[in-house]
Amino acid sequence: MRMRQIRTTVILIILIIGMVGLGLWFERHPFLETEPVPTATPEPRPSPTYKAFSPMNTVAVRPTGTPVPPQEEIKPIGKEEAEVITRVYTAEEGNIYTFNYSPDNGELPSVLQALEDLSAPAVFFMKDDDLRQFPQDASLIIQAGHEMGILMEKDSQITAERQLAMIQESEKELRALGYTGEVYVRTAYGEPSTTHRQVAAAGGYKLISFLQDMVPNTVSRLSDASQILSTIFSGNNDVALQRGEIVTFQMGLFQYSNTVLANYIRLLTNKKNIYPVKSLSAMMNNTAMCYTYPLTDDQILPSVLNQIYPGHITADQDPMDVILERYYGTNWVVKEDFLPGFKPMERYYLNTSGYIRNKENHCFLTFDDWGPDETLTKLLKVLEKHRVKATFFIRTNYITYNPNLVRAIAMAGHTIASHTDSHFPLSNNVKDGVVFESLTEKQAKELQEDLILSYEKLQRIVGDIEIDGKPALSRLFRPPTLAVSKIGLTTVFDCGFTYSVSGSFSTEDYRAKSAEALCDAILEKVWSGCVLVMHMSQNSIYTADAVDMFLTKLEQQGSPLKFVSLLEDLS
Ligand SMILES: [Zn+2]
Repeated sequence: MRMRQIRTTVILIILIIGMVGLGLWFERHPFLETEPVPTATPEPRPSPTYKAFSPMNTVAVRPTGTPVPPQEEIKPIGKEEAEVITRVYTAEEGNIYTFNYSPDNGELPSVLQALEDLSAPAVFFMKDDDLRQFPQDASLIIQAGHEMGILMEKDSQITAERQLAMIQESEKELRALGYTGEVYVRTAYGEPSTTHRQVAAAGGYKLISFLQDMVPNTVSRLSDASQILSTIFSGNNDVALQRGEIVTFQMGLFQYSNTVLANYIRLLTNKKNIYPVKSLSAMMNNTAMCYTYPLTDDQILPSVLNQIYPGHITADQDPMDVILERYYGTNWVVKEDFLPGFKPMERYYLNTSGYIRNKENHCFLTFDDWGPDETLTKLLKVLEKHRVKATFFIRTNYITYNPNLVRAIAMAGHTIASHTDSHFPLSNNVKDGVVFESLTEKQAKELQEDLILSYEKLQRIVGDIEIDGKPALSRLFRPPTLAVSKIGLTTVFDCGFTYSVSGSFSTEDYRAKSAEALCDAILEKVWSGCVLVMHMSQNSIYTADAVDMFLTKLEQQGSPLKFVSLLEDLS
């Protein structure tokens, strides 16, 4: 009997030790969790600048998860759905930091300090439970000048009506804490559902999401800020934050130190953000720089809307006459092997100099392809510094991921033009870049579709912008790789493009060894009427500096040359 009691006690002790051990192990291996679920209720932390708001503390009496608002607060949830906002559609330089608040880890003071040091206003989203349990934290955030939002529950956990009532109750609590700004909503976990959208619309709340999760689970076990940064910004993602982009930081994930998040925010802001961090409401209310995307038909200028379609070359026109009038070639696309489809006499009359003759000493800077915010913004600043206007031939297949950057180019007064959607060449390179063949009929049809798509993408972003009375979106065209063929150019002009401009000098800036070398090479080729072909891609690392250098030299020499948009002479 006694032995049995002892044995039972020993088994019980072993079981208890085992359970405690397992609990500790789980606590130290947070990666086993799929979602950041706050653990037990931590004690509210005293804070130095906390002001007591007595009405707030009484609200906390309401039992968790069962909001029972007054009946008149419940609005009918309609079919209308709020837009999910992942970025502000704006040409303004700036982006937005948002935080999903968590009381775990005690990160808030260091995060608020980092944001203050960086002059970075943010939006903090809180769950209604957290707001009631940690009003002093909400108060700290509000006093620091940040904006506030409410995290919505999963659909499965709450009815739409309760969700809305819960948000409205939380808004009242924020007002009681002295918050006067806009209250936003966001889902605590996952993509917003139709119900989430309907709830936000019914309450008149902006539904905020994000483009990048800056604290994904892959970094939650790291404790070194630079290691976190290099993990997030690796490979194809090693580009600066975008203009207007909303990023989010989940608090309470870094388990090993309560200052990791703050250190990471500092490093990110200094190393991977070329723009100032701005308040969401300030960016959304800057109507001079904001736009709707995609632009609707009635917003697009009538002279721009749907101007690219097949059938511009009529049956009584000889395509060759159109090509001779509207093709500005280049000095290395001259021989038979480079000009498939053209007869000898046709080749003879083609423009192969690439110069655009004019009496005003006009020269033309042109930039091809597409690039990240770093490259484009640096280039725009150089052009602005020298007060010159350029023409941007944009390859459009990635621009829908960053429409604000296209918008910024046009808003800076430069001309937007097409370089096809997929870099579709106008002839087939059949031998090492020295022999080209005509496109097949099928390929010409594909090119036609590509051209229409490219223009469609551009008109939805910049189709409403006018510069000095002219649309920013032109119908100028640049052939990818500058390769052409008779059928290719015929397709381009039949679609309604006004001019195809290859250029007098291919700078090959993407191969440049230094900005000085590129500057010198360009200076040798700069004469009145020249069209310089440069690039805006990530690997054109010296282009902006070289442009700055040669424009500075020309200015110092008192050069009469003027750098203008191609539209000044081709319209
Ligand atoms: Zn190109």
